[in-house]
Amino acid sequence: MVLSSRVKNVSASLTLAITAKAKRMKEQGVDVISFGSGEPDFDTPRYIKDAGIKAIQEGLTKYTPASGTDALKKIICEKFSRDNGLSYDPSQIVVSCGAKHSLYNIFQAMCEEGDEVIIPSPYWLSYPEMVKLAGAEPILVATDEGDNFKISPPKLKRVITKKSKALIINSPSNPTGTIYNRDELSEIGKIAIENDILIISDEIYERIIFNGRSHVSIASIDDDLFRNTIVVNGVSKSFAMTGWRIGYIALVNKEISSAIKNLQSHSTSNPASISQAAALEAIRSKDRSVEDMVEEFEKRRDYIVERVNNVSGLSCIKPEGAFYVFCRIDKKGLSSMRLSEALLEDAKVAVVPGKVFGSDQHIRLSFATSMKNIEKGMDRIEAWFRKVN
Ligand code: PMP
Repeated sequence: MVLSSRVKNVSASLTLAITAKAKRMKEQGVDVISFGSGEPDFDTPRYIKDAGIKAIQEGLTKYTPASGTDALKKIICEKFSRDNGLSYDPSQIVVSCGAKHSLYNIFQAMCEEGDEVIIPSPYWLSYPEMVKLAGAEPILVATDEGDNFKISPPKLKRVITKKSKALIINSPSNPTGTIYNRDELSEIGKIAIENDILIISDEIYERIIFNGRSHVSIASIDDDLFRNTIVVNGVSKSFAMTGWRIGYIALVNKEISSAIKNLQSHSTSNPASISQAAALEAIRSKDRSVEDMVEEFEKRRDYIVERVNNVSGLSCIKPEGAFYVFCRIDKKGLSSMRLSEALLEDAKVAVVPGKVFGSDQHIRLSFATSMKNIEKGMDRIEAWFRKVN
């Protein structure tokens, strides 16, 4: 079988491989504690489920416009105005089957062979693969832990070439939990504008943010950045709706939005009608369940960060958002792959090797699991390091 050159270059998701192995061990009766989860461990809030059930009962079970219903787009515009100070028209919104699909569409619509897309590293593992699938080249820019893993203006300037097409900003970040503030976004944005580089701002973790900090969208800095940014968001993480598959983008550039709408109309057509109805309610409601979830995440974050920093051989900075701690391995000669395998085999703890996010010096622990599991899992990790140190 001859595969297309497009898919030949794409790596398999290593996170899925580890999760699958941990799952197999669990099925065989092994008591594995998993820090691998990429989704909230909370159930989708009741009011959202009810909206889905109501949609089925009311017969909202047919095709909708390919880029989403007008009603949902209108609510998304209200959300942008309320939460981000951004004023979009429903025609500037495209709803897709998850934020991953939204991002995939963007790269397919705008990338050409030879284009370069700048990705600060550590990065969410699907970005480079999606860029490659669109024929372009991912340009990974290593950031420093001392800078909270943020791309600095000099680092950004150094990698810009004539081929640079886009820059991905992911704040809050998976896997580091880093949040960019207004001034940092403004500086980066200025460089992007000067060099005619489009900004793709992945804001999927927008609501999962700690210490009472607020999220800033780079599109809200000024008019130039509003026009030069595609904002990506969705309901998966904020509303514990990963399985419903609703993501969306907002953008001013008509050429790109028309291309994305056309592409989607010939691939998936509309995202599930029932999920759209549920997402509408999720975004519209003032229910407190999101705040309650974030409060619980914050308690777990404080606990896990303290535990990690007490392990001789691991250390981490405090994530400001999302639900991951990115832990540095302070033990010579121990790669993230070897450590992840050893922790799973010996300590029965599943973690994600940092290598998949661009750093073989780190592992990612997700705290989207119960406090009891975190306590037990950290006891095991601590004991493992005590044994090998
Ligand atoms: N962006 C980031 C940074 C993510 O972590 C994820 C999910 N892991 C996504 C996008 C995709 O989200 P969705 O489930 O809506 O496709």
